Amino acid sequence: LKLGNRMPRPKKPSSPKAPQVAIIGAGIAGIACARTLAQAGMHVTVFEKSRGCGGRMSTRRSPFGDFDHGAQYFTMRDPRFEAALATTAGTIKRWSANTVRVMDANGQVLATTGRPNDAHWVPVPGMNALVKAWATPLQDGSIPGCDVKLQTRVTQLEKVNGKWCLQVENGEQQQGFDHVVLAIPSAQAQTLLADSGLMPDWQSKIADVLVDPCWTLMLAYPQASQPGLSHLGPHWNVARSTHHRISWVARESSKPGRSAIERWTVQASPQWSQEHVDDAPDRVIAKLTKAFGEITGIRVTPSHAEVHRWLYAQTRRPLGQPFLHDATQQVSVCGDWCLGNRVENGFISGLELALAIAEA
Ligand code: FAD
Repeated sequence: LKLGNRMPRPKKPSSPKAPQVAIIGAGIAGIACARTLAQAGMHVTVFEKSRGCGGRMSTRRSPFGDFDHGAQYFTMRDPRFEAALATTAGTIKRWSANTVRVMDANGQVLATTGRPNDAHWVPVPGMNALVKAWATPLQDGSIPGCDVKLQTRVTQLEKVNGKWCLQVENGEQQQGFDHVVLAIPSAQAQTLLADSGLMPDWQSKIADVLVDPCWTLMLAYPQASQPGLSHLGPHWNVARSTHHRISWVARESSKPGRSAIERWTVQASPQWSQEHVDDAPDRVIAKLTKAFGEITGIRVTPSHAEVHRWLYAQTRRPLGQPFLHDATQQVSVCGDWCLGNRVENGFISGLELALAIAEA
């Protein structure tokens, strides 16, 4: 990462005496933090509970093609994010959908939004490709990769002989860390700190952060690929919506580098998601598919419909600073929720924390 004067000079590979850092969470914040610390010569291990890297920048497989069922796209506003993306430039492509219609509940256009210079970018072939690429070393050796332990949920942290010891779900212990970073959603960070009996001075600040849930519906219509039919429904690919159930619909198959089978990703509104957070998936599929038909006019039965519930999707009230750090305990937190609700916020949070740790 070419990050200006503050970036420590790369020292590779890390020496056996290099500080050992454990990072919990392999979303964009955790991997940005890990990659920067590894570049600064530290020995970094990332622990991730899922089967792959990416977190909410994730990709869901289906028999009809993949869906970006978390983040839909990202924008680049900070030059440091742009510089970091340039290191894996082939992984991202511009999505032509940066003019977004605002539709009412009956599918009528209320307004058209979109900043002309705020391009929408997507990793190819799926949203998780960017974080995956950043977890891998650059071929020229200028940026080391990260040691990521997948399917490893951290359940507790404790200090043993002055070093951090991580308890993981299968009962194993991972020990010998000088510093531990929690790069996970705010509510999960709070729980992990509390379960570990840790009470940093800033713990109450995390409680003020608000993050909305989101039900996401994924629909596939292979019947639209029949001869003489290019697509179903509207001629636009993306819309925000004022329908009380739905806030966003996007034609997944319009993104670059994706398969052509007609697929739509539908996000329920924060309010509806909260009200229906404990509903059964089948009920959510039925209600959201009906609302989707009202907005788009697509009323044929999809060949594939599934939902995913994000309990912590997008930040409503952020922390207001890029990270929190306890220098005595050597424990820190970062994540999008520190600064906002966008992919770039996660990157900047992880980066700023890594620079602070490296400088210290
Ligand atoms: P996460 O991506 O949540 O990463 C945290 C990681 O920690 C996860 O991989 C999780 O599995 C892991 N983890 C949690 N607890 C543990 C544990 N105990 N042990 C081990 N691992 C653990 N942003 C945009 O810019 N544009 C958009 O269009 C957009 N749309 C969105 C739509 C939806 C439905 C959602 C959910 C998000 C959207 N976002 C969007 C927000 C964007 O996805 C986030 O800002 C960003 O991905 C957050 O990254 P992060 O690294 O901070 O957290």
